[in-house]
Amino acid sequence: MAADNTNGHSNGRSNGHSNGHANGHASSGASRAPEPVTAWIRFVTYILEEHRGKINFFIVLPISFLCDVVWSWRDWYYETFCTTPHLHGQRVAEVQRQVREWRARKDAGEEVGKMCTDRKPFLTMGPATRTFKKECRKIKCSDMCDILKVDHEAMTVTCEPLVNMGHITRALLPMGYALKIQIEMEDLTIGGLSMGLGMETNSHRFGLIQETIRAYDVVLASGELVHCTRDNEHAALFGVMAWSCGTLGFLVAVEVEIVKVKPYVRATYLPCFTLQEHCAEMKRLSLLPEGQTPPYLESTVYGKDRAVIQCIEFVDISWREWLFEVNSCNLWFKPYYYKWVEGAFERTNRATGKPGFSEILPIKHYYHRYTRSIFWELNDLIPFGNNPLYRYLFGWLGAPKIAFIKLFMTTAIRESVVTKHVVQDIVVPIDSMQDGLKLFHEQFNIYPLLVFPIRIYDHGDKQGFLRRPRTIDGVDGPDGQHPGKAWGMYVDLGAYGVPQAVRDKQPWDFEKALLHMESWTRAHGGYQCFYTDFLLTRDEYKEMFDHTLYDKMRKLTGADIAFPEVYDKVRPELKVCDRNGRVKTKAH
Ligand SMILES: Cc1cc2nc3c(=O)[nH]c(=O)nc-3n(C[C@H](O)[C@H](O)[C@H](O)COP(=O)(O)OP(=O)(O)OC[C@H]3O[C@@H](n4cnc5c(N)ncnc54)[C@H](O)[C@@H]3O)c2cc1C
Repeated sequence: MAADNTNGHSNGRSNGHSNGHANGHASSGASRAPEPVTAWIRFVTYILEEHRGKINFFIVLPISFLCDVVWSWRDWYYETFCTTPHLHGQRVAEVQRQVREWRARKDAGEEVGKMCTDRKPFLTMGPATRTFKKECRKIKCSDMCDILKVDHEAMTVTCEPLVNMGHITRALLPMGYALKIQIEMEDLTIGGLSMGLGMETNSHRFGLIQETIRAYDVVLASGELVHCTRDNEHAALFGVMAWSCGTLGFLVAVEVEIVKVKPYVRATYLPCFTLQEHCAEMKRLSLLPEGQTPPYLESTVYGKDRAVIQCIEFVDISWREWLFEVNSCNLWFKPYYYKWVEGAFERTNRATGKPGFSEILPIKHYYHRYTRSIFWELNDLIPFGNNPLYRYLFGWLGAPKIAFIKLFMTTAIRESVVTKHVVQDIVVPIDSMQDGLKLFHEQFNIYPLLVFPIRIYDHGDKQGFLRRPRTIDGVDGPDGQHPGKAWGMYVDLGAYGVPQAVRDKQPWDFEKALLHMESWTRAHGGYQCFYTDFLLTRDEYKEMFDHTLYDKMRKLTGADIAFPEVYDKVRPELKVCDRNGRVKTKAH
């Protein structure tokens, strides 16, 4: 039942939503009055909403745990005995065969729809379960999960698209390497990150993950396999691959830069007591020259005037430090990392005598520091999850898998979650950070918030979806860049959780809040991450993201007839309901 509902089949209301979106029709004016939600669905929804913590603890968590154990063994067995990088060529040939078959049937006039990968929508890491796949022909790519090569000279790793971050750290860390942009959540795949977006707390030095990609191997709509790099004859295609979400071709391999890392890092936590101090310090630290800027930099915002900046650097440690000072923060009984960091407000750094503290973390624990608490989402999913008694007795159960939470989410619950819960990530020029944080406070009032700076690079006519970067401090450099640099400094602002108004059972108009935030983001030359719950129309999406090169490459490669347009893959999966449960009218 849950799965059906998730797919939008269970009632008139959800059909109205999913059909409207899947077909890409505007519902303006003639929006259909939804059929009444039956009493039992209301009842189930009420139970699931009111007892979410218990249901997650007694049902979702044990299932996730069992699956985690089975999958961990399966991954270990697969990674140890079953990987077949030498058969990669055969797997690519099979993708090409399927694409050519689709093409032949299409040319013969058959109604074959467009193409997409066969990855199950609920497995995607994101709050929404997209429905576009129902109308597409699924091309089998789900067996592409091998690391193909680690090149110690070129300092790159070549992977098939479904290799995930957990697999990569297990393989690279023992060799003393990590991805240059090593993404946090273990279940995120290298294919999803490189065709979508990937950012981390060292993005202020290296940019988004797309800047660290040396080559994409892509099967085009014709079935041809192309190797795209920044400088070869496919450079234009290379430039527009990130954020395209697989709408230019099927990714079959990706070569990504790696760096040498040490096994331990020193984390220094610096509390800030005003918004101004926080913003000024983040800007200063992110713009320090290489060698002086912290290798990893982020801040966690705990209130309007309360934030803790985290500066992370690699260290060599002594036996004494190894025995007494290393904090393996991901062990099951430890407090959630973000809660632990908040302790900086009450502590004094012994070395400096200033507020805050510093500690040593194993690099693997630092890389995956938010996996256990899904950033801070677990606070809402299992409200008692950070209680010491719970941690010691049940902490080893870990966090529920996002995929399972999605499976247990009926359409009615999903609607309710969308209107009472925020998952937002925006990337805006660093000069707008203070206004952005004020806006988040006014519109959402959710804490903690995630903040980290990011370089957006200027690639001239191969810029892709992101527009050429804006200036810093309003000073125009050549071509509007930060003077003397081929990049501009931006900042990611992430809000995940329940707005204070909803917690206080006060009215909160999520549509108004989101639309306000979206138009502010567009006006400030920022971007909204596509995996979030957004309300952008197609035109607004195109205003935010530059489609010039993308449209050109889609036409040139035949992708326009073979793959959905990117907006059709990422568009809001639900229509928004007003207080009467009616579908809102917003033309697309
Ligand atoms: C809890 C959570 C935490 C997150 N944390 C981070 C974070 O720390 N850093 C960060 O940068 N982002 C983060 N994200 C966002 C994440 O980067 C994006 O959602 C990412 O694109 C999803 O990766 P995925 O592996 O689920 O890929 P998918 O969502 O499955 O893939 C992204 C797109 O690429 C397409 N695609 C994938 N593989 C192929 C292929 N082989 N051929 C063609 N098309 C393909 C898919 O169809 C899809 O449209 C987070 C998201 C969530 C929900």
